[in-house]
Amino acid sequence: MAKVVVLGAGISGHTAVAFLKKKLGKSHEVVMVSPNSYYQWVPSNIWVGIGQMTVDQVRFKLDKVYKKWKIVYKQAKAISINPEGDSEISKGFVSVEYVTGEKEGQIEKVDYDYLVNATGPKLNFAATEGLGPEVGHTVSVCAYDHADHAWKELQKSLKKMEAGESQKFLIGTGHAMATCQGAAFEYALNVAFEVKKRKLEHLAEIIWITNEYEIGDFGMGGAFVKRGGYVTPTKVFAESILSEYGIRWIKRAGVNKVEEGLAHYETLSGEYKTQEFDFAMLIPGFAGAGIKAFDKENKDITEKLFKPNGFMTVDADYTQKPYEEWSVNDWPETYENPEYKNIFAAGIAFAPPHSISKPMKSANGTPMFPSPPRTGMPSGVIGKIIALNISEKIKYGRQEYKHTASMGRMGAACIVSAGYGIRKGQAATMTVSPVVPDWDKYPEWGRNINTTVGEVGLAGHWIKLFLHYMFIHKAKGYPFWWLLPE
Ligand SMILES: Cc1cc2nc3c(=O)[nH]c(=O)nc-3n(C[C@H](O)[C@H](O)[C@H](O)COP(=O)(O)OP(=O)(O)OC[C@H]3O[C@@H](n4cnc5c(N)ncnc54)[C@H](O)[C@@H]3O)c2cc1C
Repeated sequence: MAKVVVLGAGISGHTAVAFLKKKLGKSHEVVMVSPNSYYQWVPSNIWVGIGQMTVDQVRFKLDKVYKKWKIVYKQAKAISINPEGDSEISKGFVSVEYVTGEKEGQIEKVDYDYLVNATGPKLNFAATEGLGPEVGHTVSVCAYDHADHAWKELQKSLKKMEAGESQKFLIGTGHAMATCQGAAFEYALNVAFEVKKRKLEHLAEIIWITNEYEIGDFGMGGAFVKRGGYVTPTKVFAESILSEYGIRWIKRAGVNKVEEGLAHYETLSGEYKTQEFDFAMLIPGFAGAGIKAFDKENKDITEKLFKPNGFMTVDADYTQKPYEEWSVNDWPETYENPEYKNIFAAGIAFAPPHSISKPMKSANGTPMFPSPPRTGMPSGVIGKIIALNISEKIKYGRQEYKHTASMGRMGAACIVSAGYGIRKGQAATMTVSPVVPDWDKYPEWGRNINTTVGEVGLAGHWIKLFLHYMFIHKAKGYPFWWLLPE
């Protein structure tokens, strides 16, 4: 009987355990270690942040689903990995700390035959002084509780406007190397929509602040998209949407400190500036979960498994080379750790070989460009292919991997909601294929222009709403969940 342990019940880890159990059945053990008792459909947190969905519409308890699927669930967080075992346990194990219940605070060694790290991002608010909802002066929509708090704060601003007071909204990235521009962009559009719905635009100044070189970079170096029969760069696509929503922008800006009502930022040209705000939602930088690794003698071998930013080393080409020499072949295919072949990383937890956007430094030497996004669709697909490869290895002893999922070959769909409502809602729908541009295969546009498209309209809102219910259905393991795409 083989034992597969998955760390992190997010989009990639939850997909991985679902397929592992489906493929491996009763004869093998599948264990999930995750600190939060809930699964959350992160993309819908935007709607929690504008009061259009409740927290309970975007989350559900994991224990019921795992009980049904016969997956062992430990509500705990992984602290360290001993891939070679130690003096007590002869095989690889992960040390986990229980975060609740009778065992709270206890550490347990969970052994494994295969380990999947799907711990997502650590929201690194600490990298920007004064950032974040806990000790800082800004709100966040990265988790359902953050989004709920953001909605409470947003209501205060809306109330002030209803009483005739002007308000400044600052929305965007809160670190010179933050990613997830798409989510912040979506929130900015939804805030603008809600303000307009209440006929308060004359009292609102909405500002988009971003570390992107050009608006519409979205951490993927921008794209050329087909829109209504002609080809447009995402710069024009995104700028026209911001203009339509009455949002002005500050680009090439790395926020480095936030005080009450005041964001400090450095520009790519090296100037230090400030922007006042009454309400600010700024996405933090991301780091890995901070898991350590030790060898048999308890020597720290963290650098064998993880890059300095805490993301896990996988089968990517990490050779340092100039931007002009980057290739889609640098991107991983199987997400296996090269040192320990029974360890994998899925979703945001894997270390990308480099960014997708062109790396830039400010005149003062501060790196200022978006880190590569690893959105929901690639995260789910990666979780699935890792699960399929591991189960085929266990069941059939297959050594070569049949399933691959390079971001240089995989497409992704992104629906940026731009206002909620069955009749008046809007969304900008963008599909890119592949996520990482392939200039050898597509010399003209970097991507397949027939499948890299962008449109804005009510239909996009309906699709986004439909996807919300579809993905919750799938994650809950309701009938035929496995037929639904990632
Ligand atoms: C507001 C917002 C909106 C977004 N909208 C979209 C969208 O519209 N479309 C899209 O494609 N993508 C979207 N994304 C991106 C998408 O949410 C991510 O790509 C996806 O969540 C990544 O999945 P993941 O499994 O890697 O990480 P996560 O979903 O973050 O899951 C990580 C899991 O690991 C757990 N964990 C953390 N530390 C440990 C530890 N030490 N041990 C064990 N478990 C641990 C966490 O509790 C969590 O359950 C959005 C992101 C945000 C923040």
